[in-house]
Amino acid sequence: MAAEILDGKGISKQIQAETKTKVAEFVSSHQTTPCLAAVLVGEDPASQVYVRNKERACKRVGINSQLHRIDASCSTTELLELVNQLNQDPSVNGILVQLPLPDQIDSRRVLDAIDPAKDVDAFHPHNVGLISQGRPRFLPCTPHGIVQMLKRCGVTTTGKHVCVIGRSDIVGKPMAMMLAQKDSELGPEMANATVTLCHSRTANLTEITKQADILIAAIGRPKFVTADMIKPGATVVDVGINRTDDGLVGDVDYEAGMHVAGHLTPVPGGVGPLTVTMLLENTLMAAKLQV
Ligand code: NAD
Repeated sequence: MAAEILDGKGISKQIQAETKTKVAEFVSSHQTTPCLAAVLVGEDPASQVYVRNKERACKRVGINSQLHRIDASCSTTELLELVNQLNQDPSVNGILVQLPLPDQIDSRRVLDAIDPAKDVDAFHPHNVGLISQGRPRFLPCTPHGIVQMLKRCGVTTTGKHVCVIGRSDIVGKPMAMMLAQKDSELGPEMANATVTLCHSRTANLTEITKQADILIAAIGRPKFVTADMIKPGATVVDVGINRTDDGLVGDVDYEAGMHVAGHLTPVPGGVGPLTVTMLLENTLMAAKLQV
């Protein structure tokens, strides 16, 4: 039987409609509109698309957005000055520095300079620490989007074996951390997983992935996950976004996955739209925390 496709785009629309209502309520009770400031360094085409999508999404739900462009040749000091300026600006609730940054920039220093109360990507060590202790201020956008999608599609994680491939600070590590907790913002049924975090040095990867009830691929390699790596009936979440000659391709061989998985996310139209949507939720949360 073919896998059920998890419609990230449709779920995003549903969540954005909910966010829009919450933003309107916030504006009417506080007479101030939440605002997201995006920092874009250089002209990287993919980054420009991502930032534009985030601006459009803000507009859809009634959140103000600002775009701060800086030349690709800028220094770490210049970028830190801008971040400090945005930290001090009371009209800015959330700050997002679009990654990747050019090689000459010390990315870690820049991300660490963002006020943790405005860190809507949840990359600051303070926020990462809170997530690891199970008392998050902000949830990281991509992992949060994945949990939202699973919940809304009736896929719970408690007691399940979840295998995450990829140990990035943006997706893999926070995803594993969140699902292993005792509880979550979305209820205990969306936590309490037995999590295996795999990476480039994992031995016998296929042996591990094919035991997973839920397989989350965040690798950045087109069609890396093949049919033999998937447990029949498993839920497969494809985080990968790979630009190839055939267009955008995920980390999962979609055609093969269709025949083995029970649920499968498409690329595009799966996890991507949810990431942007959860950024909006975090911006609203930041505004609430700052009133
Ligand atoms: P990354 O690029 O920082 O790291 C890749 C990870 O994959 C590493 O942890 C590495 O250990 C692992 N890996 C590499 N080769 C492997 C192998 N042969 N076997 C097992 N593991 C291997 O990771 P990232 O920033 O999480 O990005 C991963 C993918 O997800 C990229 O395609 C990226 O574009 C995409 N992404 C999508 C969204 C979204 O919203 N859909 C958000 C963030 C990232």
